[in-house]
Amino acid sequence: MILVTGGAGFIGSNFVLGWLAHSDEPVVNLDKLTYAGNLANLASLANDPRHLFVHGDIGDSALVASLLARHQPRAILNFAAETHVDRAIAGAGNFIATNVDATFALLETVRAWWQAQDDAARARFRFLHVSTDEVYGTLQPGEAAFSETTPYAPNNPYAASKAASDHLVRAWHRTYGLPTLTTNCSNNYGPYQFPEKLIPHMIAQARAGQPLPVYGDGQQVRDWLFVTDHCAALRRVLEAGRPGATYNIGGSDEMANLDVVRTVCGILDELAPAAQGSHADRIEHVTDRLGHDRRYAIDAGKIARELGWTPAESFASGIRKTVEWYLAHADWLDALQASHAGQGERS
Ligand code: NAD
Repeated sequence: MILVTGGAGFIGSNFVLGWLAHSDEPVVNLDKLTYAGNLANLASLANDPRHLFVHGDIGDSALVASLLARHQPRAILNFAAETHVDRAIAGAGNFIATNVDATFALLETVRAWWQAQDDAARARFRFLHVSTDEVYGTLQPGEAAFSETTPYAPNNPYAASKAASDHLVRAWHRTYGLPTLTTNCSNNYGPYQFPEKLIPHMIAQARAGQPLPVYGDGQQVRDWLFVTDHCAALRRVLEAGRPGATYNIGGSDEMANLDVVRTVCGILDELAPAAQGSHADRIEHVTDRLGHDRRYAIDAGKIARELGWTPAESFASGIRKTVEWYLAHADWLDALQASHAGQGERS
């Protein structure tokens, strides 16, 4: 079986659902259920004996040690993290606590258990750390995309905390031989994303007839990847990635935030028209985010060459599926918004 951490969040829950759609190998899912964890994402697995949910913290060494001893996973996929840049800017404490301290605790607990395994089990084991392209900092227009050898240059507290965790994972491989894999992925979008992030936030605001706040001039460029493509890449890295290696994952679909929002509005105009005019009429430019990186772009050539992974969805196909999903799952969105009312979430 495999152990997934953070599997009640956006990408983690998509991963667990995708994993069990592709295989019968059971999943133990350890999640702290912070504001970003949502068991409704996993409702379809409620009676599925292949999925065992455990409520807990990756930094709780006693709990993690007991899970490892009981379930003897052949792999761990670490999705658990604090992930929202705006929250990190407002206060980075939770980001350091989970992305650095708790990841360190997890690595140490895993190392102690792994070192006690026999040779065959040690060689077979994998620790896959899920990370972000934000660790590389920002690009100018026309500059070459981030490759696996681009120096780390994180610019906000979230990116810095993820960079720190990547360095720990690297060191646990180089120093102790733990068979780690690290992936650095671009911006994901798709079903089950918490509506503080750009795309679901815009859909939720548009549905409610509210303003669509866009940071600064909206010309911040991101490389967008549909979440199921990310999950397929992770399955492939787990299956065939070289221990100690890192892999960049991206959609090669660069878009400015303003164009993303306009695209969402265009699809909404078709599928759920505003009472008056276009949804895009309610786009409002608001004060830019502090330290806002201008451009991220991923060179996903290594994972394509070495592991044969390329994305199945284009931004055009993925964004349509995404808008359709949120419109068809208004109850999911409404329940989440009701339970987080008044917490001041923003894109
Ligand atoms: P998310 O915020 O939606 O979910 C994070 C999950 O981790 C939640 O379920 C939360 O309850 C859980 N969690 C937080 N702290 C925990 C702890 N200490 N112990 C156990 N569980 C804990 O995040 P996401 O967008 O699904 O991102 C998942 C991972 O992928 C993160 O590591 C993130 O850095 C990385 N990533 C995200 C993106 C993106 O665009 N969303 C892109 C690249 C990489």
